[in-house]
Amino acid sequence: MQLPIQKCQYCGSEDIGLGWQHGEALVTFKKHGLLGNRLQYLICRRCGAVLYQRVAEPHRFPPAR
Ligand SMILES: [Zn+2]
Repeated sequence: MQLPIQKCQYCGSEDIGLGWQHGEALVTFKKHGLLGNRLQYLICRRCGAVLYQRVAEPHRFPPAR
């Protein structure tokens, strides 16, 4: 994956970590469904700032309009 972030915008560190959030933070594409996408995070390993987040499978979400 090409990282959309190369550098922490807060402390300037280029030591970026990749994380996944599971469970309650699932973003679902059905109102009451259990199916959902995990959230992927890019985190600064120096200061801990969350620099970026995305869902794993954006194409599964219906268009909003
Ligand atoms: Zn930082």
